[in-house]
Amino acid sequence: MNNHTLKIVTILGARPQFIKAAVVSRALSKYPDIQEIIVHTGQHFDPNMSQLFFEEMQLPKPSYHFDIHGLPHGALTGRMMEKIEEVLMDEKPDWVLVYGDTDSTLAGALAAKKLHIRVAHVEAGLRSYNEAMPEEINRILTDRISDLLFCPSETAMNQLCKEGRLANDAKVVMSGDVMKDAARQFAPLMRKPATTLPDRYILCTLHRTENVDNPQVLNQLLYALEQTCNSSPIVCPLHPHTRKSLETIGYPIDCSPIQFIEPVGYLEMLYLLNHCTLVMTDSGGLQKEAYYMRKYCITLRNETEWTELVGCGYNHVVGTEPAAILQTVQNLMDVPPVFPIPLYGDGHAAEVIAETMKGR
Ligand code: UDP
Repeated sequence: MNNHTLKIVTILGARPQFIKAAVVSRALSKYPDIQEIIVHTGQHFDPNMSQLFFEEMQLPKPSYHFDIHGLPHGALTGRMMEKIEEVLMDEKPDWVLVYGDTDSTLAGALAAKKLHIRVAHVEAGLRSYNEAMPEEINRILTDRISDLLFCPSETAMNQLCKEGRLANDAKVVMSGDVMKDAARQFAPLMRKPATTLPDRYILCTLHRTENVDNPQVLNQLLYALEQTCNSSPIVCPLHPHTRKSLETIGYPIDCSPIQFIEPVGYLEMLYLLNHCTLVMTDSGGLQKEAYYMRKYCITLRNETEWTELVGCGYNHVVGTEPAAILQTVQNLMDVPPVFPIPLYGDGHAAEVIAETMKGR
């Protein structure tokens, strides 16, 4: 690269992206001839869904911070694109770096590509094969126009191969999962949340649109969780989106048998993961973190992008029917944690990403 400083504009917007970017940003900062400029779209804006992660994971402050949230997908993506395009026209970066599968991811990739700026996608090649999920559309389209695709697994590499991405100019790299890096780096700093925790508890999170925006499904899930509380307490950090849905259906959050708490920071989440008996979730990231922290996971969806965990018996995809959920909780409750199969790389994905971008 000689004397040329490589300029990377990173687009972030949602909580899991702050966690992923924290480790990659740290790896990029080791290269004096890489300049990273962070753009925050504002998709997640509550201090405990955004600012907290920048502070405790020491992610550099965004150079550009928009306030775009709470809109339908089209309007959200469109407004983000408009603002990101302005930044890219001013900054003229060599790369735009995007993470995962949110509307911020797609907006960043599209805005860059139309300006002929190269796009790098972290967490490429994942598929749920459920196109009713907004995330699935974002992943497919972002992968389709990315120039550099960082995959967390062989399955993801094979998927991109099937889609013809290995056969053209795009470069596909098996980096491993950056969330494994985050768990490895931040686990020693885990911190107990400022709340009274039961001795033994199941950790639960819920926020997927298909679960919480459909009152019938939401009620089914609440019933299953309440029934589970008869055999084990449940601690549930409550996503703001889910809080809204619970309020809409008139669910008594404060006198539920489920222990709802405010969303916690990443260090507290690692503590909750480390001390729980089981994980129940519809989150993508948490399915893997359960495995990294040696906990079995019950996934409250009909499919998962992280299929290796299912193949190994570490993750049980049960859907949203109470009977199946309750049966699986009983089956897994006292199973000793045995996780011999290494998955998703060696916990140094961020270094692979930084090194690859440096060399391009
Ligand atoms: N997380 C957190 N605090 C919480 C709930 C989740 O730090 O109160 C972390 C979690 O450990 C994981 C990430 O947020 O690293 C997952 O984000 P989310 O479930 O919102 O998104 P998804 O992974 O489903 O895209």
